[in-house]
Amino acid sequence: MKHAFAGALHLAFHRRAERFNGGRSTGLKPLHFDDQQQPLGVEKPSEFTWNQLLGFDACVQCGRCEAMCPAFAAGQPLNPKKLIQDMVVGLAGGSDAAYAGSPYPGKPVGEHQGSPFASIIAREGQGLLDAETLWSCTTCRACVEECPMMIEHVDAIVDMRRHLTLERGQTPNKGAEVIDNLIATDNPNGFNPASRMNWAADLSLPVLSDVKRTDVLLWMGDGAFDMRNQRSLRALVKILRAAKVDFAVLGNEERDSGDVARRLGDEATFQSLAKRNIATLAQYSFRTIVTCDPHSFHVLKNEYGDFGGQYVVYHHTTYINHLRQTGKLKFTPYKGGSVTYHDPCYLGRYNGEYDAPRDLLKAAGIQLIEMERSGFRSRCCGGGGGAPITDIPGKQRIPDMRMEDIRQTSAEVVAVGCPQCTAMLEGVVDPRPEVLDIAEILAKQLVDPEATA
Ligand code: SF4
Ligand code: SF4
Repeated sequence: MKHAFAGALHLAFHRRAERFNGGRSTGLKPLHFDDQQQPLGVEKPSEFTWNQLLGFDACVQCGRCEAMCPAFAAGQPLNPKKLIQDMVVGLAGGSDAAYAGSPYPGKPVGEHQGSPFASIIAREGQGLLDAETLWSCTTCRACVEECPMMIEHVDAIVDMRRHLTLERGQTPNKGAEVIDNLIATDNPNGFNPASRMNWAADLSLPVLSDVKRTDVLLWMGDGAFDMRNQRSLRALVKILRAAKVDFAVLGNEERDSGDVARRLGDEATFQSLAKRNIATLAQYSFRTIVTCDPHSFHVLKNEYGDFGGQYVVYHHTTYINHLRQTGKLKFTPYKGGSVTYHDPCYLGRYNGEYDAPRDLLKAAGIQLIEMERSGFRSRCCGGGGGAPITDIPGKQRIPDMRMEDIRQTSAEVVAVGCPQCTAMLEGVVDPRPEVLDIAEILAKQLVDPEATA
């Protein structure tokens, strides 16, 4: 009865009421730095909002989140079901000894304890959680999507990460270096910001500081610094030009979107990047933003609004599909090897776009072989949430597990729509299927309109 009561109240006062009636709400809630009363993240169970606490108590321990969690399956020390149960233990006070389910991999049950007003991650001794449990999460939202009680695991994990990063400066492994780079150079790898356009040196791309207005702003993302992703960007440019789209880029004025800083808990750096990008965008006139990076897509579409940046944003597959549907693009039939498609978490579960990539591949004459875990049940590649940066070890690597899903289809090519997915899947050692962005596949299948004429 306790769950029925807590569950009813949790659903009645859910912090993301937009999720009811099929709606979607996936942007993180901002910290308000001018509010002196608001803690910088969550240190103690009592610092969660009252409706988050109700949510934890509503957990019926069905284990559906655990079954879907890529970090748990990889043997990293995270289990979303136990994490929620640990928050319940913290709320009541006591130890986790009575927990009867699967532990965090590698961490025996009964050694952790907490109370409402004690640090969840103890500064000394054993607390309720170990920090590496929080840093194992890829923020893929598979747990949230599966949870019958609509519990928001990712919000809770990022709230606790905010405390570790902002109050304690304890972002692990390369986290601190990435944040320092973002602060110093506006990109996570510390590249010279003036080299952001090097990938397009021969393409004569229109730059907004010159042209001032355009129909489509092509948001390059930090993939502009990466030689592998530059191939996807160049393919996208070829497609936009074939459809005679009026587009331009921000050039060296573009900065990192702030996605990784925010997922690592550095809300201050995220807000600084977001506000400066918004100020830059405000100088120019454009109708839509198009990007081949689902992380930038999500942040620009769903998270900049809290800071005054309201934009119409499309993932490149959605936009190319629109061009196809309006007769601006045609494709010759694909003659290559068999193809499967990997849904990126930040395109699918975060933004509900499952159809456009599939429609496009079909329009190019490709008969997709679907993986067992696809669509909203797609398994994460391991690249989100700063997980490759915090790099918490497990028994196996998440991209290897995803590649095994891919291999089971016997497909020779895996189509992707995300620079992170490309990097993670291409990091799997050969022999393995070829990894190609959908733009790369389509750019080779374009019908040359002039030749046709
Ligand atoms: S968001 Fe993904 S990785 Fe994180 S706890 Fe949920 S299922 Fe696991
Ligand atoms: S899916 Fe939801 S209700 Fe089920 S165990 Fe996980 S958090 Fe609890």
